[in-house]
Amino acid sequence: MSLKITVTKMDFGASEELTGKVYDVIIVGGGPAGMSAAIYAARYGLTTAIITEEIGGQVAKAGWVENYLGYTRIMGPDLVSKFEEHVKYYNVPIIIDVVENVERAGDLFKIYTMNGDEYTSRTIILAVGERRRKLNVPGEDTYNGRGVSYCAPCDAPLFKGKVVAVVGGGDSAASAALLLTEYASKVYIIHRRNQLRAEKYYQDLLLHHPKIEILWNTVVKELKGDKVLRKAVLQRTDTGEVFELPVDGVFIEIGAEPPVDFFKRIGLELSKDGYIKTNHLMETSIPGIYAAGDCVDLTPRDFRQIVVAAGQGALAAYSAYNYIVRKFGMNRH
Ligand code: NAP
Repeated sequence: MSLKITVTKMDFGASEELTGKVYDVIIVGGGPAGMSAAIYAARYGLTTAIITEEIGGQVAKAGWVENYLGYTRIMGPDLVSKFEEHVKYYNVPIIIDVVENVERAGDLFKIYTMNGDEYTSRTIILAVGERRRKLNVPGEDTYNGRGVSYCAPCDAPLFKGKVVAVVGGGDSAASAALLLTEYASKVYIIHRRNQLRAEKYYQDLLLHHPKIEILWNTVVKELKGDKVLRKAVLQRTDTGEVFELPVDGVFIEIGAEPPVDFFKRIGLELSKDGYIKTNHLMETSIPGIYAAGDCVDLTPRDFRQIVVAAGQGALAAYSAYNYIVRKFGMNRH
């Protein structure tokens, strides 16, 4: 087995070696669904490549992961490194680029990227996950990287002894807040309702943590500062009261949405809220295209789990393999 490492960052377009061949499967997305699909596809003997904007997807921005089989407690970015190491073991190239469109070309698919490259594949597995939601309030962009963050594990150590706030009431907000307590002196959670969406395990930890204070029924109106973020302007949703909260950091953890425009361009059948429709074998409405992970309708909206994405990725590779053998035979190369 080859141990050659092939992560390829393409700033000026990919090499002929990568673009010039017909792949059995191109996986779009490098989160747990895509990486798991790559391992299964490679083990089926399929010529495989991953094209992804970033390695690890949401997991790369997650704090402590405590529910992925085999790891009692591991930081999101460390788990991503383990996934990457596993994919590299099978010599699957990970191409850093953004897929902009996919078109049918006879029995094959053409894949077009932002770098201007074109790839050809017999099948495609879409594992693109979701895009992080933004608050869309004044100051959010101004102070991005100067107090505003979307990645707790990346930025939490910068807030040692400081006061921070996490916006959101789901598992991501809970996980970010708990991670931040390891560094910050005080962690506010700003939540628009009076009940958390986060799983019970997290709720118990948050509600009893001495450093955490939850500001219920509260929304962010504006983020203000000078060269760096200094305060958040907040409003209570029940009384309408507007007030300022002095903070050094604001972590925005308010969920994510699927890239609907991209899916529509490909012509995939989607759910009303823009997720890819698949059957239990991860087959989409287009034969030869499969989907897995957070971007599929099948995955419950409140159960975006790494283990579910990885399982669906494996299933997608299984379906791609069966399709390829049926349609192109074993001696296709
Ligand atoms: P989520 O479950 O969709 O929660 C988003 C939170 O942000 C909700 O509390 C929501 O409020 C709030 N929100 C949404 N839009 C907002 C806005 N414009 N302004 C203010 N607040 C807003 O997203 P998530 O927490 O990122 O989790 C996504 C998925 O990943 C879930 O399936 C979750 O279980 C999973 N996940 C799991 C773990 C784990 O350790 N098991 C860790 C992270 C994520 P409302 O509650 O009022 O809707």
